[in-house]
Amino acid sequence: MDEKWLAGVDIGGTTIKMAFISQKGGIIRKWEIPTNKNEKGKHIPSDIAKSINLHLYELKQSKDKLVGIGIGAPGPVNVQAGTIEVAVNIGWENFPLRDLIQRETFLPVVVENDANSAAIGEMWKGAGNGAKNLICITLGTGVGGGIIVNGKLVHGENGAGGEIGHITSIRKDGILCKCGKKGCLETIASATGIVNLAQEELANSEDIGRLKEDYKKSQIVTCKQIFDAVKKADKTAIRIIDQVTFHLGFALANLANSLNPQRIVIGGGVSNAEDTLLIPLKEQFAQFAFPRVAEGVELVIAKLGNDAGVIGGAWLVKEALINKSKGNLVAVSESC
Ligand code: ZN
Repeated sequence: MDEKWLAGVDIGGTTIKMAFISQKGGIIRKWEIPTNKNEKGKHIPSDIAKSINLHLYELKQSKDKLVGIGIGAPGPVNVQAGTIEVAVNIGWENFPLRDLIQRETFLPVVVENDANSAAIGEMWKGAGNGAKNLICITLGTGVGGGIIVNGKLVHGENGAGGEIGHITSIRKDGILCKCGKKGCLETIASATGIVNLAQEELANSEDIGRLKEDYKKSQIVTCKQIFDAVKKADKTAIRIIDQVTFHLGFALANLANSLNPQRIVIGGGVSNAEDTLLIPLKEQFAQFAFPRVAEGVELVIAKLGNDAGVIGGAWLVKEALINKSKGNLVAVSESC
């Protein structure tokens, strides 16, 4: 019999990414649909089900071809209940995502937090490949995180494990974060945070340079402009990225001091800066990391980009269903 496929889904505020994935983690087909936020996102489960049906039909496959669906969704997720507790940007509150999609598709569904799902994707097929003790941080519009210990995600007591973006920095006059606290890492190391820091720095700095000149004219600055200016040794840009990598290195080193990971994977749009970010970050990390911890860990840029979430979703459903059923079979045969 042909090998069955896994479906991976990654729900974002603007688009929903979907893919059919082989059991070895290869992408067979991937596509995306817009996130329909009308009526507090209530149409999303049926949009996902219809889209999966359509793509199976185009590939001349029946629903039996799929083992199940693994979904990464924003917000704190109750993994056992399959519900999304709050996803402000979509409008969900205690939203029974797993049950609604199961009802629409008649397939088994696993639901996980989106940053956790991306971390699992990187562990399986990306930059974390082979590492069972892994910290994954996504520097995008916000800062997401996933922590894997002994190959398993850390969910914590009530699903908020791995919220690296809300580690509070030592900047006392920190900016207010959307979680309600001040000085969260997200307010400094996300794309939005970097731009905020840059605006503050550009408004106050006496330096002259290309970045400052461009900002004077347009009053706009982007993350890419800042990293490009660092490469050209622009003093203001270097000072901005020094602040970012200081706080990021401080938070990651202290996290590593507690967890002793093998790898720290840095993903999200900001990580496109690659070495311009990674080299100063490694320096900052080294000064705060416990020597034994620093020896055991490698800081790397994520490899899967936007595919991490769908690949992670596929792994989660494979793990939950195939490996579990294999376990049951072993148990049955042993008892016979
Ligand atoms: Zn926060």
